[in-house]
Formats: sequence, structure tokens, C-alpha cells
Amino acid sequence: MTMNNEDFADNHFVRTIIEDDLKNGVHKNIATRFPPEPNGYLHVGHAKSICLNFGLAKIFNGTCNLRFDDTNPEKESEEYVRAIEEDVHWMGFEWNGNVRFASDYFQQLFDYAVELIHAGKAFVCDLTADQVRDYRGSLKEPGKESPYRNRSVEENLDLFNRMKAGEFEDGSKTLRLKIDMASGNLNLRDPVIYRIRRAHHHRTGDTWCIYPMYDYTHAISDAIENITHSICTLEFEDHRPLYDWVIDNISIASRPHQYEFSRLELLYTITSKRKLNQLVQQGHVHGWDDPRMPTISGMRRRGYTPEGLRLFAKRIGVSKSENIIDMSVLEGAVREELENSAPRMMAVLNPLKITLINFEEGKTQARTAPFHPNHPEFGERELPIAKEILIDPEYFTLKPPKGWKRLTLGGEVRLRHSYVIKCEEIVEDRYGNIIELKCSIDHDTLSANPEGRKVKGVIHWVALEHAVPVQVRLYERLFTEPRPDVIRGEEGEYRDFTEFLNPESLREITAYAEPIASTLEAETHYQFERLGYFVTDRYEHQKNTPVFNRTVSLRDTWSK
Ligand code: ATP
Ligand code: MG
Repeated sequence: MTMNNEDFADNHFVRTIIEDDLKNGVHKNIATRFPPEPNGYLHVGHAKSICLNFGLAKIFNGTCNLRFDDTNPEKESEEYVRAIEEDVHWMGFEWNGNVRFASDYFQQLFDYAVELIHAGKAFVCDLTADQVRDYRGSLKEPGKESPYRNRSVEENLDLFNRMKAGEFEDGSKTLRLKIDMASGNLNLRDPVIYRIRRAHHHRTGDTWCIYPMYDYTHAISDAIENITHSICTLEFEDHRPLYDWVIDNISIASRPHQYEFSRLELLYTITSKRKLNQLVQQGHVHGWDDPRMPTISGMRRRGYTPEGLRLFAKRIGVSKSENIIDMSVLEGAVREELENSAPRMMAVLNPLKITLINFEEGKTQARTAPFHPNHPEFGERELPIAKEILIDPEYFTLKPPKGWKRLTLGGEVRLRHSYVIKCEEIVEDRYGNIIELKCSIDHDTLSANPEGRKVKGVIHWVALEHAVPVQVRLYERLFTEPRPDVIRGEEGEYRDFTEFLNPESLREITAYAEPIASTLEAETHYQFERLGYFVTDRYEHQKNTPVFNRTVSLRDTWSK
């Protein structure tokens, strides 16, 4: 997969900053990183961050590290690590060297903490978590200093080593930085950088019973990896002074800088691993990679392509202002990319039988048709026709409105890539439902216009005898509300977002497709003409029992 600079959001502020840094010699090379916590699968918001971080590395010939920020052992797992690696690769990006883990730096992080204690800049505190919170003050009031703040260096070193050695109960002591309890920035009020937690870590096992906190870990990990531009979402803006403080107060030469952009919020879905996990755990969806999920693996299974997701990321841009995006923007990008990359075939989702009365019984005629009207290089397939064919009932009406171009009793229409037919008769069941049409074909219209009249309409069809029954999954939006996680009840409390799940988000039907449908590998994209883009299911599709997921319809059905 080749990518060009134009494939990424242009002229955003981070890009400009990097350009200036390179021009002014602040950096010779740039290094970014993508730092997920392995506590769930990546979602569309992460896709934005991946395109930004890996994209900048591509644009400026720099490097981007993949680093797992694994400092919360209880919530993290190997399964998530593997899924995240796979997602990043699938998005089309290569990380620099080996995958990295914050846990690889546990010893270094510990050593820097010891250094801070030696310098009188960190102390062991015996306050409980609740007390730490009480002492912290508020935006209006300064905090109170911990009574343990003035312990001697020796005592702090001794206690910290004993914390590490497992002599104290979980939660009974913390290591805190000594910064400023009166700071206007709450993050600088002697933040906790280590806590005692006897938890099994997915990589370090039971080696450690103390774990470093995010802000401390993140700053030092960036510095260790010589990251130049550390890009994160806006909620970390107030943490930047702490990030800088940590780097300025340890003996490390590297000087990474943090820049913040606004996180993507996508309407009619949710972008939080914790909430997505809830959907999985409570069984509202069939796993993290359910095609209704906004996870990268779910979108992949739905048939979104890496190219489509990258186009989306480019379109939504990078800035500090709100990034609330309608689903139609995502679908538009996916659709636009598939338009020229997916071959086409015909399929009928909801069949109505037509008998071609003047077509020879038992005969099959085949004709080749191109897979794509604008891409002859996609090749051609054989399209069989026989006496009985299927069409969508929407192509027929007894009472045609003005300008109707499809089929009606006594009217003519062209079968796509085939003959012009005329409806001679309808067959109804005893309730008056039309169950079959009897039509005649004009034998002279295979590659020619009909004699002496114009037939404008073209309809899609498949030959009954040659049609492949395929399981089709039709997806609708997962939620009935644009922002399901911020809806408040009468008392002003947040309502549970699962109240707003769309009960009709998945419908499974049997459809009938061209013979080619029984020859496809999993994860093959096709346009079913007029119906939308579909993909063979990554896991459940087999050649003899095809399963297609609807990726996106051909037109935007979202905006009302
Ligand atoms: P979540 O709340 O879903 O767990 P997170 O920010 O805690 O999200 P991380 O695994 O820490 O998830 O995120 C890795 C990177 O992806 C971070 O740099 C983060 O800023 C970025 N990121 C996460 N969510 C979004 C989003 N919605 N839009 C853009 N970037 C995001
Ligand atoms: Mg998180």
C-alpha cells in the first residue's frame, strides 16, 4: 500500500509546528508514537490518532512507535495487545522497530523515582486515597500539604524500597512528587506517581507490586524513546505542565513536547473503550468485532477499508475545536473509496419471480458482463439467463407514478446486461399479492435498442436456476440517539446509554446472487448493484455457504 502526503489531513497546526521545527533546526528527525492502553479494542477515535501519528511520521520521513501504555494490570490483557497490533497493521502502518511497552521501562521508571527522592522532589505519603483527595483542595481553594511531605530523603528511600519489596498493604502508601499544593493546576498538587497494587501484570507477572501512574510513565516513556512530538487528546492539556515538570526534573537529555488535539466524537455511536466493553460484556453485540461496533475490527468486518478510514481521517482534520462528526461523513468516505475499488454484481434481496414466457424451457444462455463500468481492467464474468429470473418487487408497480421507468403491466424495461422484457401478465395469490410476473423478451435487443421505441428503465435480476442463495446481514445504526451517552434523566442524572440501543440494528435475510458469489474468499468487497456495498464475512463466509455483510448503502440514508 503506498501512501502520499496528500493522503493525510493537510496544514493542520501540528503539521505546521513540525515543519517549523525542522526548518529551524529544532529537530533533525521527528519521532511520534501511538500509545494505546491494552484495555480494549481500538475504535474509530483511535483510527484518527493512528492516521495522525503514523501519518506525520510518513509525511516527514520520521518514525512512529507503537507503545502499549500498560500500567493498569487489572484491565489489560494479551488479547487486547494482539488485536491492537493487528488493527494498526491493517490500517496500513508499520511501527518503528519492535512493539514497545511502558512495562519495559518499569525498572527505569523506578530508578528515576529514586533519583527524584534523592533530589528531595518526591516523598512517600501515608494518606489514604480519600485523604489525598480531601487535601487536594479545589479549583477555588489551594490544597493542604501532606503531613508526610517533609520526611527525610533517607526515610523516603527506605520506605519506597520497602513498598517495592511488598512490605505494605495495597493502597497504604504512595509515592508523590513534591511540587506545589497551592498551584492553580490541580495536576501539580503533589501528584501521586506510584501506588501499591498486588495485581498480576500481563507481561511482568508478579515482579512488581508497585505500579507507576499514567502521567509520570507517559512523560518518561516518551523521553526514553526520544519522541519529539507527543500528540494526545485535549483532556491532557492540563497535564502538560506535569509532563514537562517530570522531564525537567530527571536526568534525561531528550526533550519531547506534548501537543493536544480534539478527540473525535462520532454521532449515533460511542467512542470509549469502557463503554464498548460494556456492550460486549452485556451481550448487546456479538463481540468487539461485531460489524455494528465502531471498533477498527468491527468496521473491518463490516467491510470498511483502510483506505476509506484514512480518507475519513483526512476529511475530519486535526484541530483543537470540537470534532463531533456525523456518521454520514464516515459512510461517505467509505462509499467513495469503494466506488472505484469494488467490482459489481447483481443480487436480489427480496425476490419476485418472473417467467420469461418466450424463453426456451431448460435452456441457459450466458453472456459476459464487465465487473465495473469504468474499470475494464477488473475483467468480466459470465452472466447466465434462463426461463425463470428474480427481481426486486420494488421494480414493479401496477399503478406507475408519473415518470416511472421500471416495470408495469404492459410496460417494457431492460434487464441489466441483457434483453428488453415486457410484462404481459401478473399472477396473484388468493390475497391479491403479486407472486409472479409473466414477461416476454424481445429477442432482438441483446446488444441493440428495441426497434421503433425507447426503453429507458434498467432493472437488476438474477437467473433463478443459477442464483446462489447467500446469507445477508443488513446493519442499521447501533443507537437511536445521536449522543446516547450524554442523555440525562429527570433528576439530571446520566441515563445508561444501553437504553438507546436500536433494536433493529441487525436484520438477517437470504438473498440471491449471481453465480460468482459462490467463488469468493472471505473479506471480498462487492457492490450489489443499486443495493450497496457488501463484503463476505471475515469469519463465517464460506464458498459454499456465502455470508455477506452490508457495508454501506449506495446513497446516504442517514441525513433526513
Ligand atoms: P478510551 O476512553 O476509549 O479508552 P483512551 O484515550 O483512554 O480512550 P488510549 O488507549 O489511552 O485510549 O488511547 C490511545 C491514543 O488514542 C491516545 O493518544 C488518545 O489520545 C487517542 N484517542 C483515544 N480516543 C480518541 C478519540 N476519540 N479521538 C482521537 N484520538 C483518540
Ligand atoms: Mg483510557
